Amino acid sequence: MLQTRVIPPAEGAYQYPLLIKRLLMSGARYEKTREIIYRDQLRYSYPTLIERVARLANVLSAAGVKSGDTVAVMDWDSHRYLECMFAIPMIGAVIHTINVRLSPEQILYTMNHAEDRFVLVNSEFVGLYQAIAPHLTTVEKTLLLTDAPEKTAELPNLVGEYEQLLAAASAQYDFADFDENSVATTFYTTGTTGNPKGVYFTHRQLVLHTMGVSTIMGAIDSVRLLGTNDVYMPITPMFHVHAWGLPYVATMLGLKQVYPGRYDPEFLVELWRKEKVTFSHCVPTILQMLLNAKGAQGTDFGGWKIVIGGSALNRTLYETAKARGIQLTAAYGMSETGPLVSCAHLNDELMAGSEDERTTYRIKAGVPGPLVEAAIVDADGNFLPADGETQGELVLRAPWLTEGYFNEPQKGAELWAGGWLHTGDVATLDSMGVIDIRDRIKDVIKTGGEWISSLDLEDLISRHVAVREVAVVGIADPQWGERPFALLVIREGHEIGARELKEHLKPFVELGHLSKWAIPSQIALVTEIPKTSVGKLDKKRIRLDITEWQATNSTFLSTL
Ligand code: AMP
Repeated sequence: MLQTRVIPPAEGAYQYPLLIKRLLMSGARYEKTREIIYRDQLRYSYPTLIERVARLANVLSAAGVKSGDTVAVMDWDSHRYLECMFAIPMIGAVIHTINVRLSPEQILYTMNHAEDRFVLVNSEFVGLYQAIAPHLTTVEKTLLLTDAPEKTAELPNLVGEYEQLLAAASAQYDFADFDENSVATTFYTTGTTGNPKGVYFTHRQLVLHTMGVSTIMGAIDSVRLLGTNDVYMPITPMFHVHAWGLPYVATMLGLKQVYPGRYDPEFLVELWRKEKVTFSHCVPTILQMLLNAKGAQGTDFGGWKIVIGGSALNRTLYETAKARGIQLTAAYGMSETGPLVSCAHLNDELMAGSEDERTTYRIKAGVPGPLVEAAIVDADGNFLPADGETQGELVLRAPWLTEGYFNEPQKGAELWAGGWLHTGDVATLDSMGVIDIRDRIKDVIKTGGEWISSLDLEDLISRHVAVREVAVVGIADPQWGERPFALLVIREGHEIGARELKEHLKPFVELGHLSKWAIPSQIALVTEIPKTSVGKLDKKRIRLDITEWQATNSTFLSTL
């Protein structure tokens, strides 16, 4: 240990813990009258938010919630969720944001595994909750969240309805200080195999993540996505990595915030228009859905800045959105990482390049944010050169990465092998520090001794005019190990088969952008591509479907 100078604090010096409560107070300082809006149903200003958080803290305490308890929330994106994201950790409890899009069995597993003691349930999930309730092992009480308080709902051990309880509670709560390393939030990631794994974040980590995101998105000139005058609407569910932590950022900065409830593309467009939203974030498939909405046709979305993460942002989507007035910026992260790790940034050198080069860098995962360290390693954990070409597993260090998986020490140790968090993503790093995600390790297609990135192939295929959506996976092949297989959704009035797709890809092979082994010899034309609970391409399901179609020689297969 280095011998450094550590001076004990003066008597009475306040030892400032980094707690989530600090984030809540500053928004109102900047903008008292800015509003928090829920659909077309409710709007209130920042002082009311602070008051409601105090009321909720009183309601929870009166119901018996103690520090260290886990309190779960089953809701769509709402002002209530925002209030819970503050009040629950602020009384020293842990908020478990339940992924309501998982199967009932998985939801049950996560609730028992997280040891949830209290659950706030949206009336839409009452049926689901009733079905799993007999199997819940730790839940003691429930609270009802509803948009229609006049309707009754049967929940076991119900304390009451949220709004009524809040109205009856005191608007004063003295939020105590405690250890900043206390866990504040938890939720579950759904891997490709086995049970979901619980990640968790402390107050200190979330405060630092909030500061990190505000710096990355607000202070770096080539990015400048977020400032106090922006109007924020999440389109990444609040149950998924706390909507990427942006509700904390928006509240700290006093932004006008719009919570859309359950996502419905038509309604999202309507809210965007009505509330003059300027900043959002989502995965690519959700943006695609939004752009395809009836109400979006002919609309100029000028002034809307959207961060795309969770999956690669391809050039076609970037250009399509740009033509509609939307400025897209790629960012990278995962459930385990808080989530924000990096964001597309163009330095002076890149800014001076051609439009095409600039786009290339706007769609890459980008530059690690301040305090984030990124490296690439080989299978033995040896560091690889950051030359923009060598591929390796991306590993990370940052103050806001989960320090393990809840009650799964072995999996946590694997995640942190060698003192770095292993992302499971294959990436290159270049001399400018730019991360380029090549693929998930398990999605790379290994064919004829070559490694082909399914993301690259999806990007090139999506440039064909007939293609509306595409997913590429590797399918076992006795001769080649694996062969790429493409699943396509075709635009109305267009046609394409395996042969036409080959013709489209050939020039990329000739230019050296693609290996000749990357041309799929079989494709499937479908009406919809399976998605995961958070709207990403569900490659696990897709592989199963393809194996079944091949076994039955399905009619929508097209073969070279
Ligand atoms: P999740 O834990 O569900 O949020 O998924 C995280 C994974 O999404 C990462 O490990 C990546 O594989 C993928 N991902 C996130 N952002 C990007 C990006 N900008 N480009 C490519 N893949 C991404």
